[in-house]
Amino acid sequence: MARALTELVLDGLEFARCGRALSGIVSFADLPRLTDVLADDCGHFTVSLEGHRDDEGKSWLDLKISGEPMVYCQRCLAGVSFPLSIESRLQLIPPGGQWPDDDLEDDSCDAISAENALSVLSLVEDEVLLALPIAPRHEQCEPPGAAVNEYGASPFAVLAAFRKH
Ligand SMILES: [Zn+2]
Repeated sequence: MARALTELVLDGLEFARCGRALSGIVSFADLPRLTDVLADDCGHFTVSLEGHRDDEGKSWLDLKISGEPMVYCQRCLAGVSFPLSIESRLQLIPPGGQWPDDDLEDDSCDAISAENALSVLSLVEDEVLLALPIAPRHEQCEPPGAAVNEYGASPFAVLAAFRKH
């Protein structure tokens, strides 16, 4: 059984400077902004966080999150599980430090302000919310109230099949 994260608030720069690492699980129920959009708050993410400092003195956090939250299908409104596997690289910008130029920044990393009380849960929650689809859907499902007609197909399904051509 995986352990829950014990360290929930950390000093980002110190964590990176010392090359520390932590891992554990985070329950969906501990992420209030996320549970607002989940169909079911039972379950957890497996999270790992590693800090390091590069040769140029920049501080980094590597955050990995995996899990399979249940979100609402935008078509039938039932739950649909959405497997997530996130790997983000976050650059910690110290107070007064220079933020990377947006144009030069590549998509694989993000800059965040270095706080001495960085919340691991907020970090995880932010990344998960960014990664969730805006309009999740089952690959195949019916809108609610789609009456099944005597031929066994709903008018919506017939219409949908029609639109594909
Ligand atoms: Zn659906």
